[in-house]
Amino acid sequence: MAEKGAHLTGTAYIRPSIFEIIAQESLASTLEPAFNKILSFLVSFNMERYGHILKWTDEGYLIFNALLQRYYLKKYSASFSETFYGLKRVTVHNSKLKERLTSKKQMLSLILIVTFPYLKNKLAQYSLKYKLQEVDNLASTEQNREKFFHKCIIKGHSFFFIIYETLVLYSYILYVSEKSMYPSPLLRLLSVTLTYADPQSALTITELLRKIKYNSFTISDGWNIFQRIVTGSLELGAFFLQFLSWWSQENYNMNIMNLPAPSPPKVPNIAQQYKGICPLCHKPHRIHTVLMVSGYVFCYQCILSEVRIKKRCPVTHYPAKEDDLIRLYIE
Ligand SMILES: [Zn+2]
Repeated sequence: MAEKGAHLTGTAYIRPSIFEIIAQESLASTLEPAFNKILSFLVSFNMERYGHILKWTDEGYLIFNALLQRYYLKKYSASFSETFYGLKRVTVHNSKLKERLTSKKQMLSLILIVTFPYLKNKLAQYSLKYKLQEVDNLASTEQNREKFFHKCIIKGHSFFFIIYETLVLYSYILYVSEKSMYPSPLLRLLSVTLTYADPQSALTITELLRKIKYNSFTISDGWNIFQRIVTGSLELGAFFLQFLSWWSQENYNMNIMNLPAPSPPKVPNIAQQYKGICPLCHKPHRIHTVLMVSGYVFCYQCILSEVRIKKRCPVTHYPAKEDDLIRLYIE
């Protein structure tokens, strides 16, 4: 390893192209939506029972991402998406490259890879929530200190967003013009850069058969194969993810009117009970408003506060947001 690393000096390392850098970043950013889709698909089998899990989607992804990235950083010195594109992380010291990541740099890499997108996402969510509250004039009932805090979050988010995006663009320009070794601001922060990974020597089928024949198959070989099956299916999944996003874009204009219309769902017994009245106040509707996730019709004032506080349909308990309310013009 040491002789191999000796040629890796500041100028002689092989620099991955900007296309590989951007491709791995875009793969990394599709992981979270894919995780959310799979989770909501699983939960949809029993919405009443497991619907509340969807409130913790971000935290669920945080844990999943931490486990996934820890495995890849330990094994390949790179994040999942970097490994997928055949890249690895190397430490930069006094503008010279070291062969491997130190365990401290590995730990810092893990923390940044996992927490940075999580915090960025949370900040965006809160900023949007407070902005909507401001528009609703709901903020007028709040205390001044709370109002100030909300303003700070909104302003902080837009400030942070502009600074970060500018830094990303600046890093790309410096990287392409070979003035910098760091393709992203986060890697610069860690003093870590990316280069091509060495080809992995994997256990081949013939080798495996020979091992079984001579009875030299060990537990560690079994563990190795198990790991390869798990990571192989994840990588295959990542490939399909990109294929599907391309496919859905290509076939967006497919004529869905050609498909036969399914028969309408049966009206549940409980819905008969609320015919013509609001399930919350049990009076005739004032400003008919339908909750999209369940199809029940309420008074606007009744359902708005209910959805804001409990974030679910009061009849079916399906998770719901303010965006799921639709005004009906039936008068
Ligand atoms: Zn009502």
